[in-house]
Amino acid sequence: MKLTENCAVVGVSTAEDNDVLRFLQEGLSALQHRGQESVGISVYNGEFKTFTSMGLMSESKIFLNNIKAPLGIGHERYSTAGRSTLANAQPIAVRSKHGVDYAFAFNGNLRNFSKLKSELREGITQPTESDTRLIARLLGSELGVKTVEQIYHDAAPEIDGSYSALLLLGGKKPKITAVRDPLGIRPLCLGRRGDDYFIASESVAFADCYLDAKFVRDVEPGEVVTVDDSGVHACKVFDSPRHGHCMFEWVYFARMDSVIEGIPVYKVREDLGRALAEKSGVDADMVVPVPDSGRSAATGYAMASGVPLREVFQVDRYQYQRIFIMPDQAVRERKASKKLNVLPSIAKGKRVVVVDDSIVRGTNMRNMVINKLKRVGVKEIHVRISCPPLMDRCPYGVDFHRGELIASKYHGLSHEELCQRVGKELGATSLYYNTLEDLKASIGLAANELCMGCLTGEYPEVDWSQSISVW
Ligand code: 5GP
Ligand code: MG
Repeated sequence: MKLTENCAVVGVSTAEDNDVLRFLQEGLSALQHRGQESVGISVYNGEFKTFTSMGLMSESKIFLNNIKAPLGIGHERYSTAGRSTLANAQPIAVRSKHGVDYAFAFNGNLRNFSKLKSELREGITQPTESDTRLIARLLGSELGVKTVEQIYHDAAPEIDGSYSALLLLGGKKPKITAVRDPLGIRPLCLGRRGDDYFIASESVAFADCYLDAKFVRDVEPGEVVTVDDSGVHACKVFDSPRHGHCMFEWVYFARMDSVIEGIPVYKVREDLGRALAEKSGVDADMVVPVPDSGRSAATGYAMASGVPLREVFQVDRYQYQRIFIMPDQAVRERKASKKLNVLPSIAKGKRVVVVDDSIVRGTNMRNMVINKLKRVGVKEIHVRISCPPLMDRCPYGVDFHRGELIASKYHGLSHEELCQRVGKELGATSLYYNTLEDLKASIGLAANELCMGCLTGEYPEVDWSQSISVW
């Protein structure tokens, strides 16, 4: 089972050469939830130095190195089973056609990777070129004769995909350039503390327990933002009337203490929980969150319904943290069934509302939640899910397939009927998912601002005839 291709990027431009590693470390710590497969950094201090290692930032030996540099970028990778190799770690070191070196890191996914790959076959030196290497070349290959803004302007209409990307550029005036795709699918934002500038996938990186910086703003869709020792230079290259912010960032991916597009993630999650209580409240003794991802929604459900919130599950976070990147499915399932422990004394004989953020295949809900609650003698299990039914694949970065999504086989049924069928299949007393309308209302953005392709099968695309090039 493949799940996600979600990553973190961090860029640091500091006034003090000494601090770049510490800053990258702090930024990457804040964003560890976006990728636990590998971690890497590239710094520039007259020459490029790139280090990558498998596993978590806190386990990485990279940060023991004593490097002084004014600029650096960092990356954390969350990818799929079977591709968990150091060769796929980022940042990567690249050289443009014109001999300019740069380091590159990105969060996203190229929808037309195969097409681009065959079109560009001429120039490809490595037969197994990855999407990272391909997009790194597309956004940097003309460096030496064009600026990143010019390259992006010319190349973007060929690139169908999500990309929040960072280029670390050297030379006499070293800088970090951030590029966000015109739909703004993955998040990216800018922070500042004094003369230090930071770019990060999520605003939580700027919190006082991490970079302790001021959140300045999101990098806009279609924008190129450069930070260097003279400050920030921004250029909106494309202005698309259609955006496609991934709804799953608010529902699951992002940390609940991040703010994306000005919208606090925890608030969206609580509101999704409230909507569940309003649309499908039931008489119950307690609301039980599925930790950790179901917590904010369960809080919202409890507040709206007046039913008390009770912690019935304890997570073994040391077992759990890397389940999804374990290469062997059997090992993953065995580990997954050990992830949660139930407190039987609290739940026995009770009517519980279990709240989680999403159901993908249903294995967590069936094996870890419903079966365990039944084993300790829970009387009724009402499942409430923040995210509307996942029905289709995501070509923009979440690597699940239509056939493995438990709800997709009920395509065409009414919402109520679909809820009933999935609930029955999982062995719940009742089950209810939020609707698309509740999702849009909880996020507070219109449909033409969001990507909800995995729910609707309709994927946002840039209409290049309408996307004004303002560059
Ligand atoms: P399922 O067991 O239904 O396949 O997965 C649903 C559970 O996995 C939910 O608890 C949800 O929080 C979590 N989840 C949803 N999407 C992802 C993802 O992309 N990666 C990981 N690691 N967990 C996910
Ligand atoms: Mg979860």
